[in-house]
Amino acid sequence: MMNWIDKWTQKLSEGTKMISKKTDELLEIAEMKIAIRDMESEIEDAKSYIGELVYQYYLNTHDLKMLSDEIKQKCAEIYEMNEEINRLKKKLNLIKGNHFCKFCGEILNPHERYCPYCGKKQDSK
Ligand SMILES: [Zn+2]
Repeated sequence: MMNWIDKWTQKLSEGTKMISKKTDELLEIAEMKIAIRDMESEIEDAKSYIGELVYQYYLNTHDLKMLSDEIKQKCAEIYEMNEEINRLKKKLNLIKGNHFCKFCGEILNPHERYCPYCGKKQDSK
C-alpha cells in the first residue's frame, strides 16, 4: 500500500513530466498550488485521524501506551508533508520572483530588514 508521501511524490513527478513538455510556468504554479492545498488538507485529515484513534483507544482500553507507534508514524507523515509543502512554497516564491526569507521561506516585503515570521535579519541590498 502506498503511503501519502509516495502517492504525492508520484503525482508531482507525473505533473512535472507533463509540464516540461508545455514549458508553461503558469501551469506549473497552478499544479504546485493544488499540491500544496491537497497536502494541507491531508495533514488536517491525518491530525483528526490521530485524534479519533486516541479517543477510540481510550474508550476501548483506557490505555494509550500501545498507541504510540501508530501515532509516531502518522506524525512522521505529517512532518514529511509539511517539509514538502515548504519546499514547494520556496520554489513558488522563486518562480514568482518574490523576495523571501532565506531562513524560513516566507514571502517578505522587499524593504523589510527583519523577517516578520522568524525574526532573522535579511541581507541588505
Ligand atoms: Zn524568516
